[in-house]
Order: sequence, then C-alpha cells, then structure tokens
Amino acid sequence: MILVLLGPPGAGKGTQGVRIVERCGVPKISTGEIFRDLAAAGTPLGLEARNYWSRGMLVPDDVVVGLVKERISCDDCLKGFILDGFPRTVTQADILNDLLAQVGRKIDGVLDFEVDAEQLVLRLSGRRTCPHCSATYHVTSKPPQVDGHCDHCGCPLVQRPDDNPDSIRIRLEEYAAKTAPLLAYYAERGLLHRIDSNGSPDEIFRSLEPELVAMGCGY
Ligand code: AMP
Repeated sequence: MILVLLGPPGAGKGTQGVRIVERCGVPKISTGEIFRDLAAAGTPLGLEARNYWSRGMLVPDDVVVGLVKERISCDDCLKGFILDGFPRTVTQADILNDLLAQVGRKIDGVLDFEVDAEQLVLRLSGRRTCPHCSATYHVTSKPPQVDGHCDHCGCPLVQRPDDNPDSIRIRLEEYAAKTAPLLAYYAERGLLHRIDSNGSPDEIFRSLEPELVAMGCGY
C-alpha cells in the first residue's frame, strides 16, 4: 500500500502517520525528518538543505526527489510505505508517479488533513519535538509526563528551528502557493480523501480509519 499524507504544516500528518504505521505495518517516510537528521549529522547536503527549511522555505525539488528515490527503493518499502511531507509540489508529484510507474506501482490513496488556520498556528507554536526519536508533544494539549523530556527516550525536548513565528508564516505561504495545488491534482485522479483534522488525535484517527479500511490497510 502506498499512501500520501497531505496537509499544511501542523495539520497532524506526523502524529497520524505514526498511528497509520502501527495499523498498516508499512514504514513512514518523512522528508522533513530526513532533513533534520541529515542536518544533525552535519552532512553537506543536510547543512545545505537546512538553509531552506530552517527559514520555512521548501528545499529544491531535485534534492528532495533524490532522497526519496533512494529511500523508497529500500527493501522495507516492498510491501508499501506512507509518505509524510512528500510530494509538496506538482513537479514532485509528477516525478513520484514516474518513479512508481517504472516499477509497476502506483499511489493507493492521498489523505488530506484539513485544519482551520488559527488552529495551525497554535499547534505549531506550542509544539515540542524529541531530537532523538522524533516524538512530538504540545505544551498544553499533549505535555510529556516529565516536564521538557521525551516519554519514550528521556531526551530533552526542543522546539524545531522552523516552529518560530516568521518561519511558520513562510511555511504556510509556501503551502498555499506550492502544495495546495496538489489537492486538485489528486482529486482529478480520484485519489483524494479529505479528513477533518480540527479535533484531537483520537478523533482524527477515528475519522480516517474508514478510509484505511477502504484501501485495505492492515485489516
Ligand atoms: P515537515 O517536517 O514535513 O514539516 O518538513 C520540514 C521542512 O522540510 C519543510 O518546511 C521544508 O522546508 C522541508 N521539506 C520537507 N519535505 C519537503 C519536500 N517534499 N519538498 C521540499 N521541502 C521539503
């Protein structure tokens, strides 16, 4: 099963992606996470990409596509995978279709997480992340058990460098200009499933479960 998670930053793609992985048993590929890991490792590509993402701008298509191409050809993707944060432009979507077609595969569905704009800003500005295991928290709606530390691995939580007000504004503008056109792109291809993502993580998962069932995922 090949599933794409779409939606603006803060819509819950990462959080729901983790739950979908548990349910469907295929890996989640988050391009944002890959960029953060490469930057933390200090690789030249990671540091170059950081110049874009830390300011809220999209990383150039050719850089992202190269990473995704390599990742989806790994053995653990043979049964399927969930793309979180890719594609983010029509060019990336076209290239993904071509890459999949070359190996006789195709996207099974696209989940679009829809959230009111003011909710997004609240979610992003209060978000805290574990730099070690990528678990996410929120200062009010999902605080960790021990203040400032990850429940899973105990690492001190951080605020992502792009979760500051200036970068958040640019990310939302980038989404509207470059990623939102993918909604029509996938709707035209009969792949788009719209999910109301204004509620709690449990409520959102309940509303997307029927879509997973319809796609035959893990049931
Ligand atoms: P995310 O963790 O999905 O919010 O991604 C964090 C940042 O990484 C984004 O704001 C972009 O700057 C960059 N990024 C992630 N995925 C892509 C992509 N498919 N195309 C371009 N830039 C990306």
